[in-house]
Amino acid sequence: MVRGAMDFDREHEQLVRRLETQRELSDPTLDAMRAVPRHEFVPESKRSGAYDDSPLPIGEGQTISAPHMVAIMVELLELRAGDEVLEIGTGCGYHAAVTAALVGAENVYSVEYHDSLAERARETLDRTGYGEISVRSGDGREGWPAHAPYDRAYLTCAADTFPQPLREQVRTEGVLLGPLRSGGRGQKLVRGSVRADGTLDRETHGRVRFVPLR
Ligand code: SAH
Repeated sequence: MVRGAMDFDREHEQLVRRLETQRELSDPTLDAMRAVPRHEFVPESKRSGAYDDSPLPIGEGQTISAPHMVAIMVELLELRAGDEVLEIGTGCGYHAAVTAALVGAENVYSVEYHDSLAERARETLDRTGYGEISVRSGDGREGWPAHAPYDRAYLTCAADTFPQPLREQVRTEGVLLGPLRSGGRGQKLVRGSVRADGTLDRETHGRVRFVPLR
């Protein structure tokens, strides 16, 4: 079945309403989820599932996270307009766009390992009105020092620990968030606030499953 713009609009709104009833999400987070058309970010062949609450393949063996995971991460970061945010793992650019809907596209910096994904994400972000997001291809383990310090930094791929350069690029009282491996093959979503002495005050938020940080 070929879906038209009206179908996407309806499915998009239904998804946001489901998130609203199933999760504890604030109005700004729900509005950001409403603002970004996920079907524009997923590959053409996957569009019919764009508003299912599940991950989807985006090429290069990578996946776009499920909408509820993006919403939960946005919520845990407590983003405010004007916050400077660093994302590691641009993928298709969807999560960066949701972040931008809250803080302003000019305040979002994202690093993607695969050139091809970074290139495609830039095109999609331009087309959907989020072209002011800065996307760099390279190794996100190094962060993006040129624009530091950040108020927030998050990973969309799983690491053993928050890479040291990222810690150093987030200001005191800023927040780091990401899936960290915890024993065996499991991962947990960890939120760390940066204390004045540079150490992290950590909270763990449930099991998650993300592609690995390379
Ligand atoms: N936020 C993305 C989800 C992408 S999945 C979205 O909304 O689509 C995680 C991404 O992290 C993948 O695109 C993967 O290529 C990227 N990645 C993995 N290791 C990385 C690294 N060391 N540096 C930067 N990006 C990395």
